[in-house]
Amino acid sequence: MQKRDAKLNPLALLAGLFGSGKGAYALDEETWQAVTDLPLFDGLSEEERTRLRELAIRLLADKAFSGAGGAEVDIRMATAIAAFAALPILNLGYGWYEGWSEIVVYPGEFVYEGEQMDEAGVVHHVRHARSGEAWEGGPMVLSWQDVEYSGQGEGFNVVIHEFAHKLDMKNGDANGRPPLHSGMNPQDWAHDFQTAYDDLCRHVDRGEENAIDPYAAESPAEFFAVLTEYFFAAPELLQQAYPAVYRQLARFYRQDPLARLQGGALR
Ligand SMILES: [Zn+2]
Repeated sequence: MQKRDAKLNPLALLAGLFGSGKGAYALDEETWQAVTDLPLFDGLSEEERTRLRELAIRLLADKAFSGAGGAEVDIRMATAIAAFAALPILNLGYGWYEGWSEIVVYPGEFVYEGEQMDEAGVVHHVRHARSGEAWEGGPMVLSWQDVEYSGQGEGFNVVIHEFAHKLDMKNGDANGRPPLHSGMNPQDWAHDFQTAYDDLCRHVDRGEENAIDPYAAESPAEFFAVLTEYFFAAPELLQQAYPAVYRQLARFYRQDPLARLQGGALR
């Protein structure tokens, strides 16, 4: 992905020294304003913005932020992460983010190094550059550089991506199916996601261009996380590419970002 010049980005903030550890953060007003002015939050009502803020404050109090690889996490960085993270649970409630406590921030992409087994059962030593990671019941890891590139309305948001994995893991392994609300049909969810996933995989296998980032074809879990990014950050694109998935995500997140954007002028 082509990265933009960080100097043009309102989130390109200077890092300062702050105490770290759980509950050490209150919300930074200037950052809150800068982040929630991004197109990602367009169309939210005052009441929704108030709830978003309450969720962000709760996240700042609940999670321990720590820097790694030379990064120092300050209040502004934590506030930006909390603002993005609050959007998916705006109509779900904070309970969906409970059960783990640590957010680790690297200055840029970090390298995952380890053993990985391929389809033939052969174990390879692998090194991958990552912009984020989420462990079941464990920490979330984010690249600050990628957080800065998030929220610009281009369908990329590493914070929303990693938090989507956390929602998916609420019922065990990340498999692309979070716990569904009563009234949602699991068969319909499976059918709509599988149909779209198969379609994307076909495009990727043929080397064809598709509106959706080919990384989404890695697994059903990545598909759910990447499509959640589009759902919030580029809803029109997702609605056009996979309308059935858009509808399922609207039911799950209890939000309709496309209607919110289109109706924004009328509110
Ligand atoms: Zn992922």
